[in-house]
Order: sequence, then C-alpha cells, then structure tokens
Amino acid sequence: MMKLSRYSLGNEELQAIQDVFNDGYLGMGKFVMQFEKELETFFSNKTNVVAVNTGTSALHLAIQACGIGTGDEVLIPSITYVASFQATSATGAIVIACDVDLSTGCICVKDAESRITKNTKAIMHVHYAGNLGNRDAIFALAQKYNLRVIEDAAHSFGSTNGTERVGETGDITCFSFDGIKNITCGEGGAVVSTDKELINKIKDLRLLGVEKDTENRFKGKRSWDFDVKEQGWRYHMSNINAAIGLTQLKKINSFSNARRTLAKAYAAGLQNSPVQLLNINLDHVVSHIYPIIVPNNQRNALREFLMERNIETGIHYKPNHLLTKYAATNCPNADFLGESLLSLPIHVGLTEDDIVKVCKSIGEFYA
Ligand SMILES: *Cc1c(COP(=O)(O)O)cnc(C)c1O
Repeated sequence: MMKLSRYSLGNEELQAIQDVFNDGYLGMGKFVMQFEKELETFFSNKTNVVAVNTGTSALHLAIQACGIGTGDEVLIPSITYVASFQATSATGAIVIACDVDLSTGCICVKDAESRITKNTKAIMHVHYAGNLGNRDAIFALAQKYNLRVIEDAAHSFGSTNGTERVGETGDITCFSFDGIKNITCGEGGAVVSTDKELINKIKDLRLLGVEKDTENRFKGKRSWDFDVKEQGWRYHMSNINAAIGLTQLKKINSFSNARRTLAKAYAAGLQNSPVQLLNINLDHVVSHIYPIIVPNNQRNALREFLMERNIETGIHYKPNHLLTKYAATNCPNADFLGESLLSLPIHVGLTEDDIVKVCKSIGEFYA
C-alpha cells in the first residue's frame, strides 16, 4: 500500500533521543530551549518562538494570549482540520465558519468580511495545502476592522512567499510538528510572533500559568515559589520531542526539495487530466498535502479505484460548518470542495516513479 503520508525518521533521531536519556531530564529543559533558538535562527531572527506540545495548543494559546474569549468571534475557513475550530472554541470564543475560494481552498475574504460583527476579534488564515492564498487581502481586511491575524501554518512549515519564510512576517503564526507534518517532533507545535509581549505571555500559559517558569526550566530548575494570575495549560514541549525536532530541522532543505519534486511531478502528470489542480505556487510551497478537485461527484469512486490499486488517499477536509457544534450556512464553495477534494500520497519516502504510477492510475480511471 502506498501511504498517504508518513514521517521520515532515521538513526539521527534515535541518537538524539538517546542524548536526552543520557542528559537525565525528559521534561522541558535545555533541548526545548535549543529548539526554540534554532527555530528563531530558521526565521532569520525576525521573530520570537515558543515551542509547545501540539499545533492545536499553539493555536489555543495564541488566541487566548490575544485576550480573545467568551463573547468574541473568530473567522475561520470551513475547510481546515477540526483542530483550528476546537482550539478557538476552547477559549470560549465563538467560531464563525467562513466560505473558501475555490481556486485555493483558503478563506474567501469577501465572505469573511460579510460575517464581521462588532464582536469579531480575529481572522484565522489557514495555509491550505501550504497555499498563502489571498494573504495580502486578509491583512488589509484585518487592518480595516482592527482584527488580529492568526495564521494556521500547520501545512506550510518551510514554505515562502518568494522572499521570506512563512513565520518571518505577519502577526501570529502557528505551526504543528505532529507525526506527519513537514518536520515532526513526534508531537509538537510552535507559536511565532514579533509581538514579544504576547510570546512571553504564552511562555507562562504553556506552564499552567506559572509566571516566569520558562527561564528556570531552561536552567534545569523549576519555580517553587510563584504566582498564577490566569488560566494556563500543561502544554509545554518535552526534551524528547525537542530533540527529535532539532534533528528534523537540520533536514528541512532535503525534505523541502523532495516534497517539491513530488508535487511538481503531480502537476505535470495531471495537467491534461479531468481532475482540477489548486492554484498554488509550487516553487514557494513545501507541499504537506496534495489535494486535487475531482469534478462530477466522482471523488468517492476515484478514491475506491485507487484503493484497489493499493494507493491510499485522504479527504482534507470534511467542512467544519457541517459539524453539529459549528453548524453554519451559506458556504457553497466549501460544500462543493467537501465532496470533491481528494488528497494524493505525498511524503519524503515516495519517488517520482510512485507519482507517475498514481497519475497513470487516475488516467485509467477516466479511460
Ligand atoms: C495538523 C493540523 C493542526 C493541528 O496540529 P496538531 O499538532 O495535530 O495538534 C491544525 N491545523 C491544521 C490545518 C493541521 O493540519
């Protein structure tokens, strides 16, 4: 079976875990400090980084640290992992599901603007399939209505806008390092922002709200006499996860090249196919997923056809506005994509020959 997604881990990561065992402390300590520092270097030292235990907690803490909570509203595209929605509603805020652009799968700015009320505090830009979509228009909208912009960059670690890396610019950017993302910590996430005050607040919130505990943890100590002023969470990253992440970060260039080669092979192999491709700049994006649009209600049939040929596919995503908790209306593009999107296998363990095989099978489906 050709897997939809898979990590790429080797002896280097095993050795890194061994180093943590030898060091003697598994919790949040010097490996996490090092991971945060090397991520800041990765982002050209333009931003501050706080590492946490999942991408979901990165989003949750980012929204909470903005002071967003009960009674506030956050605009989120319906086509995203349910984590974006759950992380937001965890703060008590109301999630306003928005429609998406058909060509990119990213939030539709016009639809988002139509859903703004006096309670709207933030817009979440999900980099769907690594796509930056209409990013400039999103920031312009945010400026017009005085909204925070939280970028869910779980799909776009390593991607650029042509000149700068995702994370180097913007307001608040959240990454996931779960088992199948562009780099993995096993489990992990990070919040990245130029807003130093916000980052310092998140540093406390990730340690159950214990004030200034991060500095002590990084010195191999912990605070015994401390104050807590706000609801915090046990969201810090462990040394084991950070050690894996440090090793993966060293491999990002080869991972990026591998994913880019595969995505371009799909784009070339499917250019004359009845399936539609997203409008995406494959020179800039490190493709975490490779979704195609299967027209004429044939998505499920193609999915079964490929499964019979030992090719695993995925559906990113069932629209969140169709879930009971987040029910909303008038998201026709998201409705269509929810029935038409099909994600093809992409991960560092695949070869261009594998992609040729997938494209050939899709050709046979339509033959
Ligand atoms: C993976 C993912 C998340 C959540 O990250 P976890 O580390 O799994 O918690 C959030 N949003 C999107 C779009 C994702 O793909």
